[in-house]
Amino acid sequence: MNPELLEEARRLWSIDKKIDRFNSRYNTIPFREAANLLNSMQILENKLSETPNPQNGEEFYESEFKRRLSGKTYSMETYLSGNPFTLNDMVKLYGLDDRDLKGIEPWLAANKEKTLDAIERMFSTTDVVNYELGLSLDIPRIRQQAEGFAATQIANYHQKLGGLIEGLTDAGIYLYKISPEASAVDRSYFNHLTRRLGISIGSICFELEDGTIQLRERELLTLIGHEGMGHALQRTITDDSELPFFAKEQDPTTIASEEAITQHYEKVVFDSVKDSKKVQKDLHIADTFDLIYQEEMDIRLLREYNLSLFYYSILVLADKSLGEPRDPSVMKMKRELISQYSLDPRYAMSMIENNKHNYDMEGNFYPAQTSELRYASKAVNRALEIFANHGINYDTKNHRSHIDMTFLTGYFTPTGFEQKAQLVSEDRYELP
Ligand SMILES: [Zn+2]
Repeated sequence: MNPELLEEARRLWSIDKKIDRFNSRYNTIPFREAANLLNSMQILENKLSETPNPQNGEEFYESEFKRRLSGKTYSMETYLSGNPFTLNDMVKLYGLDDRDLKGIEPWLAANKEKTLDAIERMFSTTDVVNYELGLSLDIPRIRQQAEGFAATQIANYHQKLGGLIEGLTDAGIYLYKISPEASAVDRSYFNHLTRRLGISIGSICFELEDGTIQLRERELLTLIGHEGMGHALQRTITDDSELPFFAKEQDPTTIASEEAITQHYEKVVFDSVKDSKKVQKDLHIADTFDLIYQEEMDIRLLREYNLSLFYYSILVLADKSLGEPRDPSVMKMKRELISQYSLDPRYAMSMIENNKHNYDMEGNFYPAQTSELRYASKAVNRALEIFANHGINYDTKNHRSHIDMTFLTGYFTPTGFEQKAQLVSEDRYELP
C-alpha cells in the first residue's frame, strides 16, 4: 500500500484515539478538532479505491482500508450532524451483509418446529431432579469457597484444553499467552486494553439444594471457546503479526466479524473435546461427556433460535415502514409479526411492552437496541464454505491451522473477512 497514505492514516488514527481517550476522561470531545479530523479522513478516503473482488494482498488492503475509513467517517458524520441514528446507519456501521438480515425470517420459519421438538425431547430424556440455584455470593464463606473452586476449575480447563488445542492447530500455542481468571462480575469478558480475560464465577458455578457448589462444565467450555479461543486468541495472534496497523485495531466496523469468530470457536471447543477421551478424563467429565455433548447440541439449536428471534424482533420493532411505533394498531401488527415465530406465548408482547419507550422523536428504534444485530453476522459460515470449496476443512492439523490462523489474524470488516478467506484459500495472499 502507498506508504504516504498509510502514514497519513496513522496520524489521523492517533488523533481519533486521543479524542476517544479524552472523551472517556472528560466526557466531552473537542468538537472543532473532531470536525477537522473528519474532513481529513474524508480527503484520505477519496484517495483510496475499493475493488469488489481483490486479486492480491495489495488490492485487498486498500479496499479494506477504505471500508475501515468510511466506517469511521460515517459514524463521526452522523454524530457531529446531531441527526438521529437509524437502523440503516447501524447496518452500515457494522458492515452487516444484507443476506444475513434477510435470511433471519426464513431460518426461523424452517426451524420453529425442530426447536419445539428439541425442547420436548430434552424434557423427556433429561433427569431434572434438582434446582440449579444461583450462588449465595452475599455470604462471605460461600463466596470464598466459590472463588477457590472456580479458580481451580478454570486453571485446570485452561491447561488441559491448551494441551489439546496445541496438538490440533498452530493457533493453539498462543493459548499459553493468555491466563483466564475467575471474575466476580455477571458477564465474562476479554478486555482489549488490559488483555484481561475474566470468567464469571456466577455463570460457571451453581449450588445444589444441599449447599454443595457444582461446576457447569458446558458453560465453562463455551466461555473458554468464546472469550479465550475467540476474543483473546484473536488479540494475541494479531499483536504478533505484521499486518498494516489499521488491521491490528478493533473498532465498530470489525465487531460483527469478531463476534462471528467467537461463535465459531464456541462450537469448535466442544468438537475438539468430543474427539479426545484423554482430555475428557483429565477434566473429570469422561462419564458424563456424551450427555454434556447431547445437551449442547439441543441447547445450541434453542440458543440459535432464540437469538434469531431476538434479531427478527429488533428488525420488526425498528421497521419504520410499519408506521408510528407508539400507535396501538402498529403495535398490534408488530405483535402479530413476532408471534408467528415466538416459542413463549408471552414473548411478543413483552418485547413490545419493554421497548415502547426506546424510540427517538423520528420513530427510530434506539441504537442501544439495534446494535445487538452485530451478533447476527454469518461471515464465518461463508468463509468456511469458501475454504471447503477449495478442499480445506477441519480435517488435518495443516488445514485447520490454515483456517484458524486466517480467522484469528487481524481485525476485519465482515466483507474484508470473507475476501481474506477467498484470497488465502486460493493461495493469492500470504498471512503476514
Ligand atoms: Zn464476544
